[in-house]
Amino acid sequence: MDLNPKENLGHHHPQVVSLRCPHCRHTGSFHGYSNCPDVTWLITWADPNGRRVAKSAAAGMRRCPNPACSSLVFVATSNNEVVSYPPEVIDFDATNLPPDILSTLEESIKCHAAGCYRAAALMVRRTLEELCDDKKAAGKDLKGRLAALSSVAVVPSELLTAADELRILGNDAAHIEAKDYDAIGKEESELAIELAKELLKAVYQYTSLVARLTALKKPKVVP
Ligand SMILES: [Zn+2]
Repeated sequence: MDLNPKENLGHHHPQVVSLRCPHCRHTGSFHGYSNCPDVTWLITWADPNGRRVAKSAAAGMRRCPNPACSSLVFVATSNNEVVSYPPEVIDFDATNLPPDILSTLEESIKCHAAGCYRAAALMVRRTLEELCDDKKAAGKDLKGRLAALSSVAVVPSELLTAADELRILGNDAAHIEAKDYDAIGKEESELAIELAKELLKAVYQYTSLVARLTALKKPKVVP
């Protein structure tokens, strides 16, 4: 979202905003930083339909309440609308993910947060290909390879069937037509990321939880 200040309307006490931190992904109440007031501007703001409307917005710094993070985030608020820079990101669990796969998933999520939905979807596809490479899941295309993951993880078949609707999984990457990518918007990008999260959970995190629970099994006491 672009903020184009037209006129400075004064200074105000910073409003507390609820955000998921773009740096540590914890959700919390972000307060103003030190004694820095927000500056209120008359701005033009793009509404959800892309139309630019004039309104007043307060802009200033906030600080992440997580003591281990404490990162600064720039926010602009207008009535109940809040935007932040860096932008909020979709939450995900990084537990047990191989570093290469985690890095690609993070890139996808950052692209999504920045409104680059086609790039995000491409990175989701790459995440899934890396997942199949890691687990040596073979198939004639990506869908086939994902189905082959059932031999190494509990992957709900309903999930894979529903994933057929995602254009990004439709064909081999080299043959996906430009128009398919052009049609990818926020919702499809978000759904692709959520699908990737579920598959990664099934392969790396569910098995890890089972192993930890199994380790709790108490040895039988022999009388
Ligand atoms: Zn943080």
